Amino acid sequence: GVMPAPSDGSEARATLHRIFGYESFRSEQEAIIEHVVAGGDAVVLMPTGGGKSLCYQIPALVRPGTGVVVSPLIALMQDQVDALRALGVRAGFVNSTQDFDERRLVEAEFLAGELDLLYLAPERLRLESTLDLLSRGKISVFAIDEAHCVSQWGHDFRPDYLSLSLLGERWPDVPRIALTATATHATHQEITQRLNMPSACHFVASFDRPNIQYRIVPKADPKKQLLSFLREEHPGEAGIVYCLSRNSVEKTAEFLTRNGIDAVPYHAGLDAGMRAANQSRFLREDGLVVVATIAFGMGIDKPDVRFVAHLDLPKSVEGYYQETGRAGRDGLPSTAWMAYGLNDVIQQRKLIQSGEGDEAFRRRAQSHLDAMLALCETARCRRGQLLAYFGQDPDAGGGCGNCDTCLTPPETWDGTVAAQKVLSTVWRLDRERRQKFGAVQIVDILLGRRTAKVIQFDHDQLSVFGIGEELTEGEWRGVVRQLLAQGLLAVEGEYGTLVLTEPSGSVLRREREVPLRKEPARPAAARSSSPK
Ligand code: ADP
Ligand code: ZN
Repeated sequence: GVMPAPSDGSEARATLHRIFGYESFRSEQEAIIEHVVAGGDAVVLMPTGGGKSLCYQIPALVRPGTGVVVSPLIALMQDQVDALRALGVRAGFVNSTQDFDERRLVEAEFLAGELDLLYLAPERLRLESTLDLLSRGKISVFAIDEAHCVSQWGHDFRPDYLSLSLLGERWPDVPRIALTATATHATHQEITQRLNMPSACHFVASFDRPNIQYRIVPKADPKKQLLSFLREEHPGEAGIVYCLSRNSVEKTAEFLTRNGIDAVPYHAGLDAGMRAANQSRFLREDGLVVVATIAFGMGIDKPDVRFVAHLDLPKSVEGYYQETGRAGRDGLPSTAWMAYGLNDVIQQRKLIQSGEGDEAFRRRAQSHLDAMLALCETARCRRGQLLAYFGQDPDAGGGCGNCDTCLTPPETWDGTVAAQKVLSTVWRLDRERRQKFGAVQIVDILLGRRTAKVIQFDHDQLSVFGIGEELTEGEWRGVVRQLLAQGLLAVEGEYGTLVLTEPSGSVLRREREVPLRKEPARPAAARSSSPK
């Protein structure tokens, strides 16, 4: 640290005022900082935008020596260091983007005790030369940022994080603080165990983001729906649109641009220069829309992101929460909007089935997806469901009043008969065992459509042919989607074949009822606007 403590108030508080210019600590910050300043280990779970950085930056300034920050976000290190230097903090970084001379300079500063903070990429700590360097200087605290990267089950797993457990062995007297915005109990346990921090104090901040309005709409014509959402609710405002594939990122960005929205694409397939340019435009300009894969956003600190839109279903509630959490860091009203449909469910299930990993890995991925589907299909408060997933009880059972299900409670209907019709059609097709069929064929049969594929397989001869004319195609797809989400149907193989599950039997035997959520009428705006 640099500054001598003033006589009034705590040193941490004085640093908050003097260096960072903030009035007061937020929620858990003060307790965390005091604990680490006193030399204790800490595991910190705080939502994105909650203010994790100060939790290690202030201890690094207050304690003697340099705070070493391990972060996977190499692309952001320069920005972080620049921002700290602008505040008068002596910060530097060492990573693969530097040349030899730049690195030597930072190392010399560290050894001379002239750095308050040193940012390192995790892979550097595998090098004996780095460990040797660190042991020749004085370290005030180790901060392990994005600590969920140590979790092998998470989508951000970095093998280099596993070697961070050695920090405690080599520097038993230096406090360690691990920070993450991913907060399920399992990840929490895994961080503590893999980083070998059994005596750490745990700090869990509230994950509620009251200024974010959560909405999930049925997917009909997603690009048009997105366009109306942007025009009607966030004209000229900055936001992020997430798509699953590079191709849909490109197409969506083009579509928005053609329709007068200032939008740029971002995905790992673009060259580095273009990515950097689009990212820095997003950070600096007002009102730019970035259409991106999930490669975009980790560590991005833009306070006035007014919306995060998902055109494809995230793989897990953790992912959804992190991505939507990039909206509204400034505390002003913001929207988390998602369009979700049957194809999302089938596509994600297929990806899991045909993806890499052993059986246990697949089962995990499946249960992550199931939790995400439950959030999409819930008739209860979305925020309540989200917080409950993270093990946090929402304040009251009354609902938050700021999500779609609270604002317009969905109606439910008795879908038992409809479910029986779908399941018995699946059963009949399965019994033929000649070929497997997906949702399209099932719905065509129920609606009594003589399509080429229906005729080719004599499906117009089935007793179930045409028994479902009381519902529309969209409604039938909604029924199939909800049956999948409820585990009453499953998807098999690379073609998205629908198959029965263990619990389907109880529906077919009329032993159980199937309440379904009514598909909300499509908003008029989505139909009336006329995008190019
Ligand atoms: P996280 O890393 O948890 O996503 P950051 O550390 O980047 O969050 O902080 C998010 C924003 O909140 C930053 O702009 C930061 O300067 C601001 N911030 C953090 N703590 C405070 C505080 N005590 N008072 C005011 N602003 C704060
Ligand atoms: Zn609610």
